[in-house]
Amino acid sequence: MENCLFCKIIKGEVPGHKIYEDENTFVFLDINPWSRGHCLVLPKKHIRNILEADAESLMALILTAQKISVLIKNKLGAEGINVLQNNSRLAGQMVDHIHFHIIPRYKNGSLQISHKTDYKGDDLEETQKLLTEIG
Ligand code: AMP
Ligand code: ZN
Repeated sequence: MENCLFCKIIKGEVPGHKIYEDENTFVFLDINPWSRGHCLVLPKKHIRNILEADAESLMALILTAQKISVLIKNKLGAEGINVLQNNSRLAGQMVDHIHFHIIPRYKNGSLQISHKTDYKGDDLEETQKLLTEIG
């Protein structure tokens, strides 16, 4: 897509620190890493987000995400990995070309990913009913 930053990086029109590519996927270092080796895994095809992604692209993405996770563990000594994927501005998506963040976690690393929330309102039975009823 013409105005997409990540399409431009894939095409080499904007510089990026490429780590890996294959037929369907492309990986480069996040320019503002949360930890050493923070990568972004994306499809070469421009797809906005997970809601619009086709099965073949999703399969290729998750397989590359696994490959890069293993690489990061072996080469950088990461003891843990977070895989993060944001959809829509509300959820923190800033670039509208689907990507998985591969975020290495190191012993004694300073990164904290919080899941603190004040939300306490869920009626689990009611939510389960809504999500499982047919139609
Ligand atoms: P998201 O907020 O999930 O859309 O993530 C977008 C990510 O792209 C952020 O973590 C940015 O640091 C990263 N980013 C933005 N511009 C570039 C760039 N030119 N090269 C590499 N990563 C970038
Ligand atoms: Zn794009």
